[in-house]
Amino acid sequence: MTLYDLSLTELRKQLDAGEITSEQVTQEYLDHIAATNENINAFITICKEEALADARAADQRIAAGKAAPLTGIPIALKDIFNTTGIRTTCASRILENYVAPYDATAVAHLKDQNAVLLGKLNMDEFAMGSSNENSAFGPVHNPWNTECVPGGSSGGSAASLAARQAVATLGTDTGGSIRLPAAHCGVVGLKPTYGRVSRYGVIAYASSLDQVGPLARNVEDCALLLQAIAGFDSADSTSVDTPVPDYTATLADSVAGLKIGLPREYFIEGLDDDVRRAVDQAIATYKSLGAELVEVSLPHTDYAVACYYLIATAEASSNLARYDGVRFGRRAADSKDLIDMYTRSRAEGFGAEVKRRIMLGTYALSSGYYDAYYLKAQKVRTLIRQDFTEAFSKVDVLLTPVAPTPAFLLGEKTDDPLQMYLSDIFTVPVNLAGTCSMSLPCGLSDTGLPIGLQLVGKPFDEATLLQTAYAFEQATEWHKQKANI
Ligand code: GLN
Repeated sequence: MTLYDLSLTELRKQLDAGEITSEQVTQEYLDHIAATNENINAFITICKEEALADARAADQRIAAGKAAPLTGIPIALKDIFNTTGIRTTCASRILENYVAPYDATAVAHLKDQNAVLLGKLNMDEFAMGSSNENSAFGPVHNPWNTECVPGGSSGGSAASLAARQAVATLGTDTGGSIRLPAAHCGVVGLKPTYGRVSRYGVIAYASSLDQVGPLARNVEDCALLLQAIAGFDSADSTSVDTPVPDYTATLADSVAGLKIGLPREYFIEGLDDDVRRAVDQAIATYKSLGAELVEVSLPHTDYAVACYYLIATAEASSNLARYDGVRFGRRAADSKDLIDMYTRSRAEGFGAEVKRRIMLGTYALSSGYYDAYYLKAQKVRTLIRQDFTEAFSKVDVLLTPVAPTPAFLLGEKTDDPLQMYLSDIFTVPVNLAGTCSMSLPCGLSDTGLPIGLQLVGKPFDEATLLQTAYAFEQATEWHKQKANI
C-alpha cells in the first residue's frame, strides 16, 4: 500500500509515531498528482513549493509533540476559497489571474492546524453546474471512468479524492455541489447547516444557499475536517453562534432506535434501477442495525428545482455584478469608454452558463417580474422549509438517493440545461431548507460506477448525521472500493 492510499486517521497515527514525515507524504502526493492530473484535470493550481514548506513546518510541530488532528495532512481546496498569495480563479477566465490578499476563514482554520495545501481544485465556473463541464480550465474526468463526469460543481474536490491526489478536500454546496460529486466519485461529502461554517473569503454564488463543507474518503475523516472549520465567525454575518460539539465523540454511538424517514416523493418513477437497488439495500442495512424506518412526506418537493433556479440565479446576478473590470480580475483591453469596458470585460470573462444564469436572474428580479418570480419563489421556499420541519418532528434523519442516476457521460447533457438542472432534484431542497446533509458511497452500478446515499439531518445536528453515516460505513464495505487509476 502506498502512502496516498492511507486515510487521514491512518496517516495521523503514522505521523505521530514518527514512522513517516509529512514531507515524505507530501512529496509522494505531489509526484502522484504530477503523474495523474493530465487524465483527471482535478487541479487548476498545484502548490509544489508551498506544500513542501507547509510540510516541513508541520514536521517541526509534530516533532515538538504539538500536532493537531490535521497537522501535516495534505489537503486541497476548491478554487473558490481565497488563499493569500495563491491565485483563486473560481474556474473563470474573469478571475484567471486573481490573487486575493487574505485567506478565507475556513482556510485560516486549516492553516492554524498546519495542514498542507497541495493546490486549488477545478470546479464549475462560479460553482454553477452539476457536471464540472462549465470550467474555463476544461472538464474534470471521473476517476472511475474518465469518459464520465465527476459531478459538479465541486468536481475537482471529489475526483481528486477518488484519484488519491489528496487526503481530504473542501468544497461548497449551494444546491448539491458537495454531495453530487461525492456520490459520483464514491467518496464522502458533507454539506453543513447554513451558518455552521463561515463563508467569509469564499467567492459568493447564491449567498442565502452557499455553504462550505468537507469531502473525504470516509466518515471519520469528514468529521475531523468539519471539526476544524465549523464555528462562529464575526466576519460572516450569516454564521451562527452556537456551540460546536465534538463530532468524533458520538460517531460510534449505536443507531438502534434511531428514526429514519423515507420521503415518499424521493422514491419516484424514473429513478435509475441501480440507484434504487443500492438505496433499498442501504435501508435494509439500517433495519438490521435496529433503526426504525418510517415513511414521511415532503409534499412541496416538485417545486424545489424551479424555486432553486429562480433564487440561485437571482442572487448570482447580484453577486456577479462586481466583476466589471474595475476592481477584480480581468479588464478588456482597448475599450472605447467605460460602458464598453464593462461590457467587453464581462463578455470575454464569463462562460456561457454563467451568462445564462445572470440573464435568468436579472430577469427574475426585474421590475414587473419580481413579484411573479422571485417573491413567489421565496414563498415556495418557506413551504419547502416547513416540509422539513414537519418531517423532523417525526424522525431524526432522512434517507434518500443523492442523484437520480450514476455519473453520466461527458457531453451527454451539455446541450440541454434543463436536463442538467434536474440532476439536482434530490439535493436542492436541503439547501432551500438550510439544513445539513451528507452523501456516502452505498453501491456500484452495473457498469461499475459509484452510487451515493443521501442522509439529511436536523438543523445544526451534524453530530447525529455523522453518527448515522458512520454506522452504515462500519456495516458495509462500499467506502473501501477504489477507482482504478
Ligand atoms: N447544480 C447546482 C447549480 O448549478 C448546484 C451548484 C452548487 O451547489 N454550487 O446551481
